[in-house]
Amino acid sequence: MNNSCIYCGATPQDKELSKSDIIPDALTNTKILNPNVCKIDHNSKFSDMFEYKIIEGLAFITNELDIKSSKSDKYHPFQQTIIVDGTEYKARISSDYELFKGNKFLKSLDNTSKLGPIDKVQKIPNIKYTEVNVNELEIEKRININIDLFFCNEMYRLIAKIAFEWFCLMNEINQKKECFSKIIQFIETGNDNGFVTIVNDKKVHSLFNNESPFEFGSHTILSYIAKDGSVNVLVSLFGISIYNVKLLSQKNSECKNIASLSSLTINSKHYQFRESDIAQLENKFRNSFNYIKLRYISIASPKNVKDTSLIYQQTYLLNYSVFQNIHCIDTPTDDCIDILSKKIENLLQTSSLTIRGLKRFINDNQLDKRTIELNPNGTDKKSIFLFYILMIIGKSSAKITSSHAFYKLMNTMFEENLVITDEYTENIKKELFTEKATDFISKGAKIILEIS
Ligand SMILES: [Zn+2]
Repeated sequence: MNNSCIYCGATPQDKELSKSDIIPDALTNTKILNPNVCKIDHNSKFSDMFEYKIIEGLAFITNELDIKSSKSDKYHPFQQTIIVDGTEYKARISSDYELFKGNKFLKSLDNTSKLGPIDKVQKIPNIKYTEVNVNELEIEKRININIDLFFCNEMYRLIAKIAFEWFCLMNEINQKKECFSKIIQFIETGNDNGFVTIVNDKKVHSLFNNESPFEFGSHTILSYIAKDGSVNVLVSLFGISIYNVKLLSQKNSECKNIASLSSLTINSKHYQFRESDIAQLENKFRNSFNYIKLRYISIASPKNVKDTSLIYQQTYLLNYSVFQNIHCIDTPTDDCIDILSKKIENLLQTSSLTIRGLKRFINDNQLDKRTIELNPNGTDKKSIFLFYILMIIGKSSAKITSSHAFYKLMNTMFEENLVITDEYTENIKKELFTEKATDFISKGAKIILEIS
C-alpha cells in the first residue's frame, strides 16, 4: 500500500507529502522526522496553530542551551528587561551583543529615556544626551518566566503531536489509521483533551533530570503499556516538564514496536531502540552480552561495545514498573509548579561547557575581530567564566586542534563538578585583569574557532 498523510490520508497524488520535524526544529539540535505528513494542512499550519507560541515562550531555554533553528540558522529572540545604570529598558534580543549592535534604540520602561549608538543620537535635534561607555557599565538582565506555558492547551497539542508522529515512525505506520482519529482531532482542533496529562511523579522526574543516561537538556520519548492495557507515550521536554500521552485504550495490530525509546541530546546525538514488547526487549538485551563464568560470579561484557543504546535499554527495563505505575494529573498543583520552577532555575544556572557554546560566545562578542575590552564592573558569572576558559586555552601549551583535546584539557582542569560561586567568580576575575590576559583571550578564541 502507498504511503499517505497519517493525519488525513492524503496520498502523494492528492497533496504534497513532507517530512515533519517531530520535535519542532527550533526546540532541538537533533532532527527526528516523520515523512508521512502533508505539507500544508498538517505540517506548516501546526506551526501557527500551536508550535510558534511554545517556541517563543521557551526561547529563554533554547538560548541558554545553544539550540538554534537549522532553518533560519538563528537563535530565537526573547523579551528581556535590561537594567543599565539604574534605568530599565525592554528588549527583544537573543544575545547581549545584539544590544549595542547596529541602529537599535532601547526605550526605557518609563518612556523618559532612550539608549542607542552615539552617532545616531547626535543626529537627533534638540535632545539632551549623555555619553556612556558600555564596557564600563553594569548591565543586569531579567527575564520573566511564564510557568503557565507548560500547562496551556497549545503545549498539550504540541506534546500530543510529538507522541503521535513519533509513535507512527517507530511502529512503521505510514498511512492514516482509524484508531487514532480522536487524538488527531485533538491535535487539529485543541478540543477534548482526553490524552495528555502532567506527570507528577518524583521517581520519573528524578530519572529524566540529568541522571545517567539522560543527558543535560535532552528530550526523551518512550512508549509502554500501562497496567490497564492502554498504550502510552511519555514525553520529557528538556528533562524539565514531563507529560504522559494515552494514545490508545488498548494494544492493536498497529502496535509493532511498543518497547521503544528515543533520546535527543543538545549535542546532536540521537540514542534509540525499538522492540515489539518488553519481553522481547529483555530477551534481546540479555543476548547482547557474552557471559564469562568465574568460580563465584559471572561477568557480562557487551558483544558490540559500540552499541550506545544498551544503557538506555537497561534503564528502560529497570524502570518499566515505574512507568506502569506513573502518577499523572490533569491540572498543575503547587507541588508540581514548584518542581518545575526548581528545574528551570537549575537549568539556567548550569552552563554546559561545549565547543558549540564557546563558538557562539566568541561570535556574539566578536572576540576574534575586535580589541577586547573587559568590563571591570561585570557580574555576569557565565561571561566571566567563558572569558576565563578562553584565556586558559590561549595560554595552554597543549595543541588544541580537536574537540577531543579540548575536553581532555577541560577534564584535567575541572575534575569534579564545578559550582561557579561569587567567590570563584571574583578569583578568576582577578586573573582576567592581569597583563596580557586579553591577548590570551584573542588567541584562545582563534583556537576554538578553528576546531571543526
Ligand atoms: Zn494531512
